[in-house]
Amino acid sequence: MASVTVLACFGLGLLFGSFANVVIHRIPAGGSVVAPPSACPACGAGITPRDNVPLLSWVLLRGRCRSCATAISARYPLVELATGVVFALVGWRVGLDWALPGFLLFAWTLLVIAVIDAETRRIPNRLTYPLTPALLVLLMLAAVLNGEPLRGLQALLGGLAAFTALLALALMSPRGMGMGDVKLAAFIGVGLGYLGWGEVLVGVFGGFLLGGVVAMALLATRLRGRKDLLPFGPYLAVGALLAVVAGRPLIDGYLRLTGLA
Ligand SMILES: [Zn+2]
Repeated sequence: MASVTVLACFGLGLLFGSFANVVIHRIPAGGSVVAPPSACPACGAGITPRDNVPLLSWVLLRGRCRSCATAISARYPLVELATGVVFALVGWRVGLDWALPGFLLFAWTLLVIAVIDAETRRIPNRLTYPLTPALLVLLMLAAVLNGEPLRGLQALLGGLAAFTALLALALMSPRGMGMGDVKLAAFIGVGLGYLGWGEVLVGVFGGFLLGGVVAMALLATRLRGRKDLLPFGPYLAVGALLAVVAGRPLIDGYLRLTGLA
């Protein structure tokens, strides 16, 4: 049963990965995500359903447009594959549970925001504003259906706590962190808050640790200078996904190591 859930989530992830490409491409440009239908950016030829199958079409077309043979970025199949893998991991961790739709939305949003922030140094309000309340509603509903209504409240408090913590940091060091990161933290706090306070800590600290280590490595190797603005969203996103997939074992391991449990 568990493997069926994982496999189904992987398939769903490939499809939603395809939609993620559309959102990553159009949201920063201010476009609509439903119209017009997808077309080749080079020649404008419409992309037919048979050339729009996640992963497979790109491989079969050898990464080129069918009409003009312009190379299609490997980012498209990579985003599809990454969404499939992340959905499979969430399916494995959360299982067949009322909270599964909420955590799939959580994972999808984090992936989309991570790619957009890495490319544009921006986290669009058009994503965080509607999707944070949507996530909260989905998880509150799941909490009630699972007979654990307090988890819904925990999700709300997790979002407020992470928002407040990052707002304080952003005000102290306005250069390092933007308001987009603060709003992303609220979204992350809602998802991880549903799981528990330990997961909120693992997710947010994990993101900071990761971002700090990468920033230091880039500075040390002189790939980036001190004045370069590093996007912080991708690290927060990875930390949050890590907390969903491996948060519990990490917390238990830490408590055992320090003799607290
Ligand atoms: Zn073309």
